[in-house]
Formats: sequence, structure tokens, C-alpha cells
Amino acid sequence: MTVTDTLVPFAEAMERYEPVIGLETHVELGTRTKMFCGCITTFGAEPNSQVCPVCLGLPGSLPVVNRTAIEYTIRIGLALNCTIAEWCRFARKNYFYPDMPKNFQISQYDEPLCTDGYLDVDVDGRTIKVGIERVHLEEDTGKSLHVGGATGRIHGAEYSLVDYNRAGIPLVEIVTKPIAGTGADAPAAARLYVTELRDLLRSLRVSDVRMEEGSLRCDVNTSLAPRGAREWGTRTETKNVNSLRSVERAVQFEIERQAAVLDAGGRVKQETRHFHEDTGTTTAGRSKEEAQDYRYFPEPDLVPVAPPRDWVEQIRAALPEPPAARRARLRAEWGLSETDMTALSNAGALDLVADTVAAGASPADARKWWLGELARRANAAGTELTALAITPAQVARVTELVSAGTLNDKLARQVIDAVLAGEGGPDEVVATRRLAVVSDESALTKAVDDAIAANPDVAAKVRDGKLAAIGPLLGAVMKATRGQADAARVRELILQRLSG
Ligand SMILES: [Zn+2]
Repeated sequence: MTVTDTLVPFAEAMERYEPVIGLETHVELGTRTKMFCGCITTFGAEPNSQVCPVCLGLPGSLPVVNRTAIEYTIRIGLALNCTIAEWCRFARKNYFYPDMPKNFQISQYDEPLCTDGYLDVDVDGRTIKVGIERVHLEEDTGKSLHVGGATGRIHGAEYSLVDYNRAGIPLVEIVTKPIAGTGADAPAAARLYVTELRDLLRSLRVSDVRMEEGSLRCDVNTSLAPRGAREWGTRTETKNVNSLRSVERAVQFEIERQAAVLDAGGRVKQETRHFHEDTGTTTAGRSKEEAQDYRYFPEPDLVPVAPPRDWVEQIRAALPEPPAARRARLRAEWGLSETDMTALSNAGALDLVADTVAAGASPADARKWWLGELARRANAAGTELTALAITPAQVARVTELVSAGTLNDKLARQVIDAVLAGEGGPDEVVATRRLAVVSDESALTKAVDDAIAANPDVAAKVRDGKLAAIGPLLGAVMKATRGQADAARVRELILQRLSG
């Protein structure tokens, strides 16, 4: 598909138009079993190995609501400052979809579990209160695999396979109210909202919120109206945007595209659009100009859900510290600037650093290793910090060994590499590789004397006060000790020897 859209440069579009955005986020809950049956939900299992008559929609099977999924959804609703319904129902949403075996999805329609909340999002030092319209519970669909084509899409494929392992996994949909007044910050605001929401969901321990595995998926609504207009423009809905960066790019692209349509006197079509990661563009999907009739009706196979008030209050009392408050507290405890803290968050290192500090490292050391050496290792391996094969406790132990003088930075890096390579914990690596700093003074003194004897010219220069010439002597000692000496101590010893 070629993209032939005309675009207006973003800054120019912002001079004439005001964007309104909205986000619909789907979150797969991390319950052990599915929404309406007892099938296990582990990711990546053999296709169709986690299915039963209920999630395959076989005749005569009956769904039963997963209590934990209700609890998780209430937890999310409370954390988003929503009202929890005293009584609500599931509804059938009727449509055909090959990876949805019942040909209807059990969802919630006009009676969602949680309504009317908000989430504060910090955009460049300004707090934006993003209204939450609703949080409702539904079931996920299965997954189609299109085989034989070049792109993995259905177009050009020879045949398709369906995996129903995901069918029936509890899915929470979080819908914002329209977000107006963000102006040129709209793309960043969209990204920061999803970031804040992801951090909140993670802190609630209701989902692993991995965008790349699809457990957090975003649809982004964007509309544009001339500045000062009384009515909002027609919105488009960009589907399944699968990374934080893409959320921002999708909004920016839609603003640039819609501005060009409006500039040319055209009309923005109400439609779904697909985001393309490779080009950062969107292309038209299904038209939404005629509302689809899903023939919703209350799900007759399920009783209504009426969560007891004391249960809701128990869940509220057990909510963890909200991420924004936690960030502010840690920032104060660690004495960091706002910029340093943002860098930690952006690198996905906040929890790792917090856990490393909890395991005994100083905040400065914990930051240094995670944002320095370990970030470089993760980058080189094309993975995330959290995926590295080293624990915060192990990093804390390395910093302890450095503080105690057992390791210098160079040796510490070798220990980290060995831990990452699966050679065991820091103490084990130090023992098996004999990596400790040589602190035996007599061994060091002998190495210093050998180096002076082998480099008489250099020694003479240093003796005459040319301290900058000391390099070859230092190098010889470090080589003799296989880099395991403390360089500062070696320098002291050489100068002592040559000053007499
Ligand atoms: Zn099942």
C-alpha cells in the first residue's frame, strides 16, 4: 500500500488547528485462568493447548465469571479514581470474527463496572487531568496466523491457522474522555498518558503490561478543529499502536494529515486507520461513518455482578502507593533532580534502581551501574534492562565489593559480564576467576620494583620530577597483576620508590 497523503508540517498545523485526542487501551489481565472458564493463560504455549468447550464456544457450555478478574478490574477502577458500579451486567456484542469461536464477544455495554475517573499526567511540568470515561471487562479473541505470504498479513497468504489459547483471556478496556487543550503537546500527552497508565497497572500487579507481547494495546483517536472553533472535528481511530513511541508518532502523523485535508477544503472521514511502525504513517481502514449494529443485549448465561461494598473498600485499602507519589518520594530520598528521575523512568530503570538500593547499594552507585554499563549491555543485546540476566541484589553485591576495595571498576565490569554470561553470582565469579584486586603489598612492591628495573629511562625521568612520564611504569605493573591492582595505590608506590 502506498501512502500518498499530503502533510502539513506539525508546527504549521498547530498555528491553525487545535487537536483533541482520546485513548482506548486494552489490557490483558494477568489472572491464572481465563475470564469465563478454568483454562490456563500462560503466554507462548503450544497452539490450542489451553482451550475447553467454554472458550471454544461449543454448544451447551456455560461461562462462569472469574472472581479475580473482577477484583483486578475494581483495583484498576479505584486507582483511576472511578466510581465502582453497585450492580452491572455483561453484554453480548455480536459480530463475526474468525478467531472468535462463539461469533459474539462477552463484553460490557451500557453497564460498565467502573465509570467517571481521572488520571493525572505530567506533561513537561504541567499536570493534565485526563478524564476516564469507563473501565470495562471483556474477553480477548484468539489469534490468526496467516501462512505463505510475504508480510504475515492475510493478503497474499495461502492459508490461515487459528490459535484459541488467547480466546477468553480477561481483557480490560480503559477509555478516556476527549482530551482537549493540549495543543502542540498532544502527541507527547498521548504517549505520557499511556506511560503513566502502564506504570500504574504495573504497580497494581494486574498485568505484565508488555506492549510488544500485546498485553497492552492502544487505539488512538485524533481530531482537529480550526482554532477558536466551537465544535470539535471528526475523529479517526488509529488501531493497535504497539509502542509508546508509536502512540506519539500516530497522533503527530494524524494531525499533519488531517490539517492537509482541512486546508484543502476537504472533510476528515470518520474511520479506523492502521499505524505502520516502519514509516510512522497511518492508512485508512474500515469506515465508521455508518455506525455498526452489534445488537448488544444482556448476556443471558451470566448473572449480574454486584460487588459488595465492603469488598470494594477492602480492595481500596490495599491499593499500593501510586507511581507518581512513589517517584516523588524516591526522588527526595535519593536527592535526584527531576531530569535525573525522568532519565531513570525513561530507561525503565526506576524499579531496578529502587530494588538495588533496597538490597544495600547507594542510590548513586545503583544509578551509575544501571544507566551506565548495564544500559550499554542491554542496548548492545537489543533488549530491555529488565531482561538482563542479573538481579538488583547481584548489582548491589558488585557495588559492595567495589566499596570494600575487593574490586576496582574494571574488575567489576568483568564480574558483571560473567554474571550476565551465567557463570553464577558475583561472589562465585570473583572466587572462580580469582578477580579480586591485588592488595598484597609485598606482591605489589615486587611488581613495582620489577617495572622500575625494566624501564630505567622512564624511572629516571620520573625521578627528575616529570610525573607525566609515569605511564609505562603503571602499565607494566597493571600488566604484571593482570589488571587486578588498584591503580591509585600502584601510582603511590612507584612515586614512593622513586622519591628516595
Ligand atoms: Zn477454556
